[in-house]
Amino acid sequence: MPAPADRPPSVDTLARSLADTGLPHPLLVDAAREAIAAKDPQSARTIAEGIAGAMLRPVVNATGVLLHTNLGRAPLASTVTGRASNLEFDLAVGKRGSRTVHAGGLLARAVGAEDAIVVNNCAAAVMLTLAALAGGRGAAVSRGELVEIGGGFRVPDVMAQSGARLIEVGTTNRTRVSDYETVVDDDLALVLKVHRSNYTISGFTEEASVASLAALDVPLVVDLGSGLIDAACPWLADGPPSWLADEPAAKQTLADGADLVLFSGDKLLGGPQAGIIAGRSDLVRACAKHPLYRAFRPGGLVLSALQDVATAYLDRTAGQLPFWRMAAASVESLRARAELVIDRVGRGEVTVCSSVPGGGTLPTVEIPSVGVAFEGDHTAALRAHQTPVIARVVDGRTVLDLRTIEPDDDAIVVAALLDG
Ligand SMILES: *Cc1c(COP(=O)(O)O)cnc(C)c1O
Repeated sequence: MPAPADRPPSVDTLARSLADTGLPHPLLVDAAREAIAAKDPQSARTIAEGIAGAMLRPVVNATGVLLHTNLGRAPLASTVTGRASNLEFDLAVGKRGSRTVHAGGLLARAVGAEDAIVVNNCAAAVMLTLAALAGGRGAAVSRGELVEIGGGFRVPDVMAQSGARLIEVGTTNRTRVSDYETVVDDDLALVLKVHRSNYTISGFTEEASVASLAALDVPLVVDLGSGLIDAACPWLADGPPSWLADEPAAKQTLADGADLVLFSGDKLLGGPQAGIIAGRSDLVRACAKHPLYRAFRPGGLVLSALQDVATAYLDRTAGQLPFWRMAAASVESLRARAELVIDRVGRGEVTVCSSVPGGGTLPTVEIPSVGVAFEGDHTAALRAHQTPVIARVVDGRTVLDLRTIEPDDDAIVVAALLDG
């Protein structure tokens, strides 16, 4: 018998009517309950669509920020086989192996380090290194490098959590090797040099070089953050782009005498979210033995993706990684794509714009780029597209920067623009 028209539908009936949203039934029940409680059963669909929209999903990054932290930083394709793997199994001897040999070993080779291990991000790499090598002892840092990276990562706080004692040296704008020399004693476990990833200090400044600090009688750990592998960029046909000029690289920092370098996997490395600790074997092993390593280590999915990235660097095909392909794309190629997009959409105009590396790296760098621009703010409509397109508004115009859009996704951009 059908229910009287003025009676609200049952939670179950309402939930079942939303099955096409693709959400699991318990979430549809939540949406139905919420709508019925609000005496507005019609709103159940909007609630369910809101839940579905909040799920992790691919988007098109049209912001011009290459490493957009809110959009997962470096874009990366990866395949999952669904099979077991030799994550911690030595196939040669048929016994337990180590998860540090695959991606870690290849990355060590790529940067010229004796050894390397992988953790969840560079924040974890800093924390683990300090805990393992300087727990209960002193770690010297320049006052000009007591940085906040963002998202709660502040060097003094990380230091405190690690159990190492922060020993500040020098001043905000000038720190010399002699400042470090005065604090070297039996209690000093290491010197930590932190790359000024997201800010600059200019004017009356002085900074101790890696080579000069390496000469001190104490291990030198360099937190590079951004993860450029090699300043020579042998994976790029035209060599290093001018905007990378002052960026320290892992290989050269180790060659200059650093005992360990720490860097992110998803910044200038162009890989998955990860943190790499590379350098002297005894120090890397001490980190791997510390109980925090167990808590910080990534799983097979990340290590497999990182292994592919490391292999690409060793093969000198890293220029094909999405990040480097986008970063190195010529302005002419971007202009050609922009013209095609405008042609297909039938409105808007080609505009000159600037991309930025992002991800808390290279704060002053702008990379010449080309985008498409449309009068007014269309960002909400673009975000609502089936594959959301994330754009920005500049001077009252919606701008989509072609540099950070995967060329294969231009068709999605066109569809989203025609939709909006
Ligand atoms: C980005 C950065 C970090 C943090 O790296 P995550 O991988 O985001 O945890 C640490 N140190 C420096 C110098 C950085 O630039």
